Amino acid sequence: MHTSSSTRVILGPGRDRSVLNRHPWVFSGAVARVEGDPQAGEIVPLQNAEGRVMGFGFYNPRSQIRLRLLAFGPDPIPVIGDFLDARLKAAVALRTGFFDAQSTAVRWVHGEGDGLPGLVVDRYGPILVVQFHTVGMARLRSLIVDSLRRLCDPVAIVERSPASKEEGLGAVSGVLWGTFSGRVEILEQGVRHWVDVIEGQKTGLFLDQRDNRQRVAQWVARGMTQGTARHGRGAQLLNCFSYTGGFSLSAALQGAITTSVDTSVAAQTLAQDNFALNGLHTADHRFETADAFDWLHQCRERYHFVVLDPPAFVKHRPSLDKGARAYKDINRLGLRLLEAGGLLLTCSCSAHVNWDLFQKILYAAAREAERSVQVLGRYSQPIDHPFSLYHPEGEYLKTFLLRVVE
Ligand code: SAH
Repeated sequence: MHTSSSTRVILGPGRDRSVLNRHPWVFSGAVARVEGDPQAGEIVPLQNAEGRVMGFGFYNPRSQIRLRLLAFGPDPIPVIGDFLDARLKAAVALRTGFFDAQSTAVRWVHGEGDGLPGLVVDRYGPILVVQFHTVGMARLRSLIVDSLRRLCDPVAIVERSPASKEEGLGAVSGVLWGTFSGRVEILEQGVRHWVDVIEGQKTGLFLDQRDNRQRVAQWVARGMTQGTARHGRGAQLLNCFSYTGGFSLSAALQGAITTSVDTSVAAQTLAQDNFALNGLHTADHRFETADAFDWLHQCRERYHFVVLDPPAFVKHRPSLDKGARAYKDINRLGLRLLEAGGLLLTCSCSAHVNWDLFQKILYAAAREAERSVQVLGRYSQPIDHPFSLYHPEGEYLKTFLLRVVE
């Protein structure tokens, strides 16, 4: 991990503005040259064209993001283990006090938002799940495991790192430390969930939807909207891209009759187990293993509430147009299925789709659906998914709560 004193990345003339603005990414186009042949993932100093040291970050020769800065300014990171310890401690301290015994699953580390670019740590009760999104963080695996063990004495630490072509990383999945197999049970605002941290999607549960699931529950409980005949008990809720049934579960516990649509058989099985775990009768609810686009197209029912929480349709900028059309299609179809007075909670987790674009997409969907629509709320990601003001790309989750007037 030691860098020889001659190793450095040097910016082109006038290319230091974004670093001065504390943006943590240095793109390849800004780099004039690299001295000393650093390894992928090594921590190296960054200099501007005048030779001033601007910061220190993870170097990756194959990524467009050539450097991910961990620290700004001229002072080197003396001991990387101590540095990681301090950042991890600060990240955990931020969450302390926001979560009680009713919520035992929390995102502990959210990458750049916690000053730890490329690292995600989710806590599911006694189990920690980590993701290394960059070569730099992956190289620090054992230091991070040591630090996490000191922080909370977990039963096991599981790795669920996704593959990244850009970074040159393959997917890594398995128990990193301790012993664990099967599912872990957690509580989310009092609702019980099985989480499959070994085989499930991402780290097992979409923790970023915690607040939105509670919002849906509250709307169902309070009787949705004045113009809707069905309140609370008996409200019909359609949840598309339902994964392990999170939104359906929160609504069903307030008396809604739910339909959950997802392509994943494993997710539908877990969704039904989650209903049973909370004392709900699965026979009173529908679980459809189907493509949500097809399902929405052929649906002839009407609903009081529709939830649309698809996977990111725009993963890379070139797919922006295609992804935007997909968002428009599901939202048009979703709006068409709503009773007058009904609600649509609709999300985009594509970082490339900003608030303005998402609102325009929803406008186009409402026009095509020929519905008159009010915006009741706009919500971003929860407190355990912070983003840095200097790194606006970190704000990825956009949610609108819409009401169909007629
Ligand atoms: N709302 C969920 C998270 C959704 S993640 C929650 O609260 O936990 C996105 C989900 O969409 C995944 O479960 C994935 O299996 C599903 N999915 C992806 N493409 C799909 C499609 N075309 N039709 C239906 N489901 C799809």
